[in-house]
This record gives sequence, C-alpha cells and structure tokens, in this order.
Amino acid sequence: MKLDVLLDETISLLNEPPLWLFCVAVVMLVLAAVEFLFKGSRIAKLDAKQANPYKVIARREVSSEAADRPTLFITFETRANDLPCGAHVKLVTEIDGEEIQRSYTPTRFDGDQCELLLRVYPEGKMTQYLYKLKVGDSVLMKGPTGIHRYGEDGPGSFKEGRKKMNAKSVNLVAGGKKTFH
Ligand SMILES: Cc1cc2nc3c(=O)[nH]c(=O)nc-3n(C[C@H](O)[C@H](O)[C@H](O)COP(=O)(O)OP(=O)(O)OC[C@H]3O[C@@H](n4cnc5c(N)ncnc54)[C@H](O)[C@@H]3O)c2cc1C
Repeated sequence: MKLDVLLDETISLLNEPPLWLFCVAVVMLVLAAVEFLFKGSRIAKLDAKQANPYKVIARREVSSEAADRPTLFITFETRANDLPCGAHVKLVTEIDGEEIQRSYTPTRFDGDQCELLLRVYPEGKMTQYLYKLKVGDSVLMKGPTGIHRYGEDGPGSFKEGRKKMNAKSVNLVAGGKKTFH
C-alpha cells in the first residue's frame, strides 16, 4: 500500500468521531496516570522520625478578633496513611541557628492534605514563621507523633505508649486563655 493511500485511510478513520473520542480518552488516561505516579514520588511519605518538606497549598485567616493574635487555617500537601486519633504532627524550622519544633493537631488529615488551625502569638517563634508563609512555600513536618492513642481497640480504649487503659466514662477538660482589651 502506498504511503499517501495509507495516510488518507488513517485521516478518514481519525475523522470519525468515536475514534477521536477514544484517542482523547486514552491520552487523558495516560496523562492522569503519569501525574499520579509523578505526584506520588514527588511528595515524601510522612515519617515520624524524619522531617520532610511539604508545600503550603492553602492559607486562610479566620479571625481578626485581636489584630495582634490572628488565627489561620494552613493546609499542606502531604502523603500519608491516616493520622491515628490522639496523634499529632510536628513542624520543624531553624530560627537564628536554633532548631525549633512545635506540635500541632490537624483539623483535617485525609492522606494527601493536612490542615492546621493556628493561633499566632506576637512573639511566638514558630507561629510568626508560619504566619509569613505563602502558598507554594514548604515547611518541614514529621508525624504521626505523640504517645497517646484513643479508640484503637474499640470505644473507651486508651493507650499511653505501651500502657493500655479502658474507660467506661470520659471527662474532658478544656483550657485556654482569652485576652480582653
Ligand atoms: C500536642 C500539642 C498539640 C498542639 N496543637 C496545636 C494546634 O492545633 N494549634 C495551635 O495553634 N497550637 C497547638 N499547639 C501549641 C503549639 O505547639 C505551640 O506551642 C504554639 O503554636 C506556640 O508556638 P510558638 O513557637 O509560636 O511560640 P513560642 O515561641 O513557643 O512562645 C509561646 C508563648 O510564649 C511567649 N514567649 C516566648 N518567649 C517568651 C519570653 N522569653 N518571655 C515571655 N514570654 C515569652 C510568646 O510570646 C508566646 O506567647 C499544640 C501543642 C501540643 C503540645
């Protein structure tokens, strides 16, 4: 078969809408698979011992109740299994040559996103650093950290390291500080 005939036949075949649609669908599937594989290798898995960089993908200030103490939601792109109940994450940075580590309990953690709610302190080392972050910046994070686990062996079960407890009722105590002007 001559090349021009083959080309004509290919073009006429491609002109048929169902084949076009099929080709587009295949290309989209391949691109999605490449993006999925690439993303998986690009983001380090959350590790309890080793702090890895995670990118800020959203940042939203939620309170201007006291201008010197803003509250903000900050979301990181992560890669992890679920965060056990009672565990938290640790953010790590270096300020003036000193390594700073602070714990945070995510308000949402779904394997590829970790959302934190922060109260920013006027002279707080970590929170001042986090407050200045923009979408696209990266922060070192490790986790899950903490020795307490709740409900792993059913309702009322608690673990503190290796120590296991079972409770029939639980009292919760909340504490905090409010500055009045
Ligand atoms: C398990 C756990 C979970 C937590 N989860 C959250 C959470 O979800 N969200 C959250 O917002 N926080 C959380 N925290 C608190 C958090 O870890 C930090 O302690 C908090 O963000 C303040 O850190 P910072 O480095 O900004 O402040 P720091 O630098 O540690 O300072 C803390 C406070 O002390 C004051 N201070 C610092 N130095 C001095 C000084 N020399 N003299 C007088 N005052 C001083 C600062 O102004 C500030 O008010 C959690 C803590 C724990 C232990």
